[in-house]
Amino acid sequence: MNFNFSPEDEAFRLEVRQFMQENVPPDIARRAAVMYPPPIADFRRWQKILNAKGWGAPHLPPQYGGTAWSPIRKHIFLDELYKADGIDYGWQGLHMVAPVLVAFGSEAQRQRFLPPMLNGDEIWCQGFSEPGAGSDLANLRTHAKLVGDEWVINGQKIWTSDAAESDWGFFLVRTDQTVKPQKGISFLLVKMDAPGITIRPIEAINGGHDLNEVFLDNVRVPKDQLVGEAGMGWTYAKYLLEKERTTSAFLYFNKRELERAKESAWRERINGVTLIDTPDFARKLARVEADLHALEWSVLRILAGERTSHNADAVVSALKICGAEMQQRVTELQVDALGARALRFFGSDADTLHNSDAWPADVPGKSARFLFERASTIFGGTREVQKNIIAKLEFNL
Ligand SMILES: Cc1cc2nc3c(=O)[nH]c(=O)nc-3n(C[C@H](O)[C@H](O)[C@H](O)COP(=O)(O)OP(=O)(O)OC[C@H]3O[C@@H](n4cnc5c(N)ncnc54)[C@H](O)[C@@H]3O)c2cc1C
Repeated sequence: MNFNFSPEDEAFRLEVRQFMQENVPPDIARRAAVMYPPPIADFRRWQKILNAKGWGAPHLPPQYGGTAWSPIRKHIFLDELYKADGIDYGWQGLHMVAPVLVAFGSEAQRQRFLPPMLNGDEIWCQGFSEPGAGSDLANLRTHAKLVGDEWVINGQKIWTSDAAESDWGFFLVRTDQTVKPQKGISFLLVKMDAPGITIRPIEAINGGHDLNEVFLDNVRVPKDQLVGEAGMGWTYAKYLLEKERTTSAFLYFNKRELERAKESAWRERINGVTLIDTPDFARKLARVEADLHALEWSVLRILAGERTSHNADAVVSALKICGAEMQQRVTELQVDALGARALRFFGSDADTLHNSDAWPADVPGKSARFLFERASTIFGGTREVQKNIIAKLEFNL
């Protein structure tokens, strides 16, 4: 078996690397390295640069702006993008709702919504979770009624990332109370400045304000902003969540940040000994690195289309668990390596203090990211729920 990339793929890697070197604006790279999430204005700017190159959404079919790259090339591309501190494609927009519009939306919806999404002109949020409907999403109560040519929505969402800065949101709403819970849900596209929407930020443990409560009070949405068929929202949401979890190995982030943990460990000293030479730290680092290699090979096996004897849902759930735990382990290594200096809280000054004498490049933002990553085993489906899915694994030997 040949484990190397083909010469053509290696040439592609060099092409992408050169593009990143020449095109990631240094101020965007600096902020992307220390702030999470990076400012939306940076995301908009960077997305325009990618789109101008024709790389606005490699994962979509070519007729909707995709690149027709092989899965391995998409892997190489993201690897290089992260290494250069470029910003990943918008999670809720390009990763989530775009594939749903391609698969289930009308042609008019694709033409209306995909171009501004690819160009960073319109930002999206995801209105699924509610108080009382997180893991048990089918329990959602926000409801919509068709009145004339409009859906009228009432209810509340919570944990809606980026709601306050988004132009559009995709919402799961109950449109039929008379059928079993999963059957009566619909998928609506909602303009976030529509009358009747109130957005209230929730301050997170890392100091971020990107999470929100969203209240919907008689919000009117034109009938043609329903995706697919009424009552089929659960099917579309499952499709979307599966896509979310496939990308949830967070491989590229984990690889880049492990390298940064090593850089810190090569510089920091304890009682005159370089941290990397202390057995406890070296052992912990080696364990994380070995597991990260294993995760990368698992992702590559899936990208290479290897047939698996396990059912696909279980594989995706396993990747989600390993990737989420890996984010926690890598960021923990970073704060371990920085010792007491990791206790300094960096808010919006993470950018300006970056790489000063007192605070070398690897310090700002690390503790905030470490704190944020406590959530990685919650969002996109909690670890326990993923384990339930794996427990129901079917063998097709
Ligand atoms: C940072 C962050 C960003 C988010 N962004 C968004 C967003 O943009 N849009 C959106 O719609 N949602 C978002 N969410 C919400 C996220 O999807 C939910 O938090 C998640 O689905 C869990 O739901 P919950 O918080 O209601 O917890 P619950 O479902 O109430 O779970 C509480 C605990 O019980 C456990 N549990 C629940 N059910 C079971 C079971 N059957 N078996 C075993 N254990 C179980 C869980 O694992 C968890 O430990 C975000 C969450 C976070 C933390």
